[in-house]
Amino acid sequence: MMLRVRGLTVRYGRLTAVDGIDLDVAAGRIHVVLGANGAGKSSALRGVCGRVRPAAGTVELGGRDLTGRPAWRAARAGLVLVPEGREIVAPLTVEENLLVGAYANRSAGHRRRTLDEVYTMFPVLAQRRGSPGGLLSGGEQQMLAFGRALMADPAAVLLDEPSMGLAPVMVERVLGAVRGIADRGIAVLMVEQNATALGLADEASVMERGKLVLGGPAADVVDDPRVTQAFLGVA
Ligand code: ATP
Repeated sequence: MMLRVRGLTVRYGRLTAVDGIDLDVAAGRIHVVLGANGAGKSSALRGVCGRVRPAAGTVELGGRDLTGRPAWRAARAGLVLVPEGREIVAPLTVEENLLVGAYANRSAGHRRRTLDEVYTMFPVLAQRRGSPGGLLSGGEQQMLAFGRALMADPAAVLLDEPSMGLAPVMVERVLGAVRGIADRGIAVLMVEQNATALGLADEASVMERGKLVLGGPAADVVDDPRVTQAFLGVA
């Protein structure tokens, strides 16, 4: 497994937001964690990448223990978060936003090649490379956030609700781009409220009140009555 999470627990004071979850993601695979608002999905990703220090549990990337490392060190080791809300720096240009992601990528030649790859993958970013990031549409900003993550040359990426706030046609494009990320051999852990994301998953889990209540090959999870009732609106 590229990314291996065991017993991850995140607490805010007395509230346990994430309660001892296990997750595995292999290189080149997409693991989707589906959960309603407030289930603890963002907290789980923050605990994995070191934005919050887990109260318990372990995080390993390619066999290397990253538990409790601050997020910038995890990113340097190849574990990168694409946060909820995207966190584009509005006044910086598209290209400058991409280069923000490359700060850990020390060779200028490699940086240039990765930038070219990102532009090939997302032609809209190449077209708008000189525009302020804040002027892009929501879907374009999500592509920019993906591109910025790729600039760090990650082994695993954590995607926090990339479809949020996007029109259905954009959701499809953004989710399509996620497969492109995995096809680079990157392990993708994506949390979503939008059950459409299951169509893209290799593995899937369902999170409720801080716990994973269901998990396995995506095809099995999609057919589970708990998923059809709660997320697909089928009685
Ligand atoms: P959403 O889809 O709204 O982002 P989520 O599944 O990602 O939901 P979290 O944001 O992880 O859920 O929240 C899980 C629980 O932890 C909620 O009860 C939330 O109120 C609480 N919580 C999240 N962040 C904090 C924080 N910084 N301090 C205190 N409580 C928090």
